[in-house]
Amino acid sequence: MDKRYRTKYHLSMIENLNYINEFGMEEFLTKERDKWRCKLCGATICCHNGLCLNCNIDTLLINKKYRWEMDNKKPETEVMRSTEQLLEDFAY
Ligand SMILES: [Zn+2]
Repeated sequence: MDKRYRTKYHLSMIENLNYINEFGMEEFLTKERDKWRCKLCGATICCHNGLCLNCNIDTLLINKKYRWEMDNKKPETEVMRSTEQLLEDFAY
């Protein structure tokens, strides 16, 4: 992991924790869920490529290896994963 990546990742985690402190867990979960929901149909967006399986099926069929277009999307996926970890820690 390079330093820039780590810093961004770390900051995002702090932001998440600050948000939870300020607005509460429920509000945070709602925000996170919305981030991974398709704006067109409301289905969950695939975290590997950012596509909705309902609305973007054509794109997926044309290019099965489709991945996030921008590199800066990747850290967000990492944050999402760490958020899940964080929620697990809260649950136990
Ligand atoms: Zn959709």
